[in-house]
Formats: sequence, C-alpha cells, structure tokens
Amino acid sequence: MTKPVFVVISGPSGVGKTTIIKALLSRRKDVIFSVSCTTRPKRPGEVHGRDYFFITKDEFESMIERGEFLEWAEVHGHLYGTPRKFIENAMNEGKSVLLDIDVQGAMRVMKTFKDGVFIFIAPPSVQALVGRLKKRKTETGESIKRRLKDAKWELSFIDRFQYLIINEELDEAIYELDSIITAEETKVTRLLDEVERYKKEVLESESG
Ligand code: 5GP
Repeated sequence: MTKPVFVVISGPSGVGKTTIIKALLSRRKDVIFSVSCTTRPKRPGEVHGRDYFFITKDEFESMIERGEFLEWAEVHGHLYGTPRKFIENAMNEGKSVLLDIDVQGAMRVMKTFKDGVFIFIAPPSVQALVGRLKKRKTETGESIKRRLKDAKWELSFIDRFQYLIINEELDEAIYELDSIITAEETKVTRLLDEVERYKKEVLESESG
C-alpha cells in the first residue's frame, strides 16, 4: 500500500534527464509522465503527444489566457508549459505524476505543491556537460552555447531541491530516482489513513 506522489525533476539540458525518466517509466507503470506543451521545433524521433505537444506560439498564448497551464516558462528561447488538466486527471486516478520542467517552473510549482518531491539531476561536472551537449548533435552551435549558459544558471538552484542525483553512472541514477519515489510513497506522513486503520484495528481487537 503506497500513496501517489507528485515528482518534479529539473536539471540542465544534456544531463540525461530524458534517458533516466524513460528508463524509470518503463519499469514503473504506476508513474505517469506529464507531457508538456512547447513551441520548440520537434527533434528527429520525437513524437507529438508522447514527448511533447508541439504547438504554435499563438496556440500557446491562447492556453496561457485560458489558464490551462499549471506553470509555464521561457526556456532556451522557447515556451514550455505543463497542462493543468493532465496533472489533475492523473492525480484523480491515484497515480504518481512526474514532471520534467526547468528550475523556474519547479520554483513556481513548489509554492502550490507543498508535499511534492523535488529532485535535481546534475552532471558530474560542468566540463562533462559540455561534452554531452556537443555529442548530442541535436542542437546548433548557438543553441549549445545558450544551453550551457542556462545550465550554469540552473546549477545555482540545486540547494532549493530536496534530492540531488549526480548522473555519473546511468544505472545508478535510475536506481536512485526509483528509490526516492519508493521512499516517498512509503513515508508514514503520507500514509496517515493507514496509521489510523491500524490504531482502530488494535482498539477493536482489544475490546473484542
Ligand atoms: P528540451 O528542449 O531539451 O526538451 O527541454 C528544455 C528544458 O525545458 C528542459 O530543462 C526541460 O526540463 C524544460 N521543460 C520541459 N517542459 C517544461 C514545462 O512544461 N515547463 C517548464 N517550466 N520547463 C519545461
């Protein structure tokens, strides 16, 4: 018996967040990934509705006006937002939800979801991140530069998070994420209904 949790993951571009999250989702069917909307162009291999909802700037702005985002931010020159409906539906179904959003988004969500679990994924070093971004080949030179500058800024927010995963060994990082979610789902403070049930059972057994 566990309680669903609201998990927010942040970390610089190129740190391996997507790979870690995909591996986690394939082993944990009880966790739902929150698919964001973005105005960024689709990369090869990305699927609309699975990786992102790729929408136009006009569509994005209408969604802002209608209040359809839980949070949104401009990241690396593009707009990204978390659709509110998606999160509400998942939580109503009793599923744990996982968001991959930038630090600005995470800071905003921290104010609303006080019992959320906030995890920062960092590279082993800034130098290692430079290498990874260059190897990725999905970005132009200009975009790499921008992402690096943003990465350094994002790293300055680590101490606002509850957990830090350093992605040196992929398997270890996946294990750590899985363990954090399990530990959070089994916290006594999240399972107060269960605690009450035991108390009641003990009382009943003593009076019977
Ligand atoms: P990428 O373009 O590499 O897929 O993502 C760039 C950055 O945007 C990542 O740091 C990712 O966490 C962030 N991001 C993705 N979706 C959202 C979102 O809905 N809101 C916010 N604030 N950031 C997002």
